[in-house]
Amino acid sequence: MRLIERPSPNRDARPEGTPIDLLVLHYTGMKTAEEAVERLCDPASQVSAHYTIDTEGTVFAHVPEALRAWHAGVSYWAGARGLNARSIGIELANPGHEFGYVPFPKAQIEALVDLADGIISRHSIPAARVLGHSDIAPARKQDPGELFPWKGLADFGIGIWPEHSARALDLPVEQALAEIGYGVAPEVEVTLEQVLGAFQRHFVPESVTGEADPETQRRIAAVHALVTAPA
Ligand SMILES: [Zn+2]
Repeated sequence: MRLIERPSPNRDARPEGTPIDLLVLHYTGMKTAEEAVERLCDPASQVSAHYTIDTEGTVFAHVPEALRAWHAGVSYWAGARGLNARSIGIELANPGHEFGYVPFPKAQIEALVDLADGIISRHSIPAARVLGHSDIAPARKQDPGELFPWKGLADFGIGIWPEHSARALDLPVEQALAEIGYGVAPEVEVTLEQVLGAFQRHFVPESVTGEADPETQRRIAAVHALVTAPA
């Protein structure tokens, strides 16, 4: 893995005693990786991430993992808010939905697998807590989006992917999503359609509609079973 130090001033200390137990994946949503790296290192932008990976698989290190990077913004997962405090953030160079969303190249994903593997083992991050920015901020964010290869990553032990399941959802959709970890109203200011969209970008990428259609309900049931299974 080719790693280049590009320190960012946009960082501070993590609150004392906060565990690092989330890995949050993003796309940069900018035309070029260089433009994104410059922004993440610009004190005026007030944003950063721990790492950026360009389309050729070069990793730029911005913020030491022990410190808090500023990538998640207003966010919620499984009862916790302000998730910069407890997460590692990785940006993947991709123009995103605004500037021409494209598949993530193989070299970029290979570098991500390497990098994420190390992060997960250094901090013992549970598989179900490897998330997309849209999972933790569904009302505001779409990244890394439906082209992100969550299933392929799960094959490498990074994140979860549910086995195909014919199981019907036997609890209300909102309750199942909340028990998986998603913020739902009234706890979080978000519509059910937005939360379903975030779930679909992650787990039903072939059909992002914001609707609880039968296939989406089956996958909610499958993810719910995986996440709530006794260890
Ligand atoms: Zn993001």
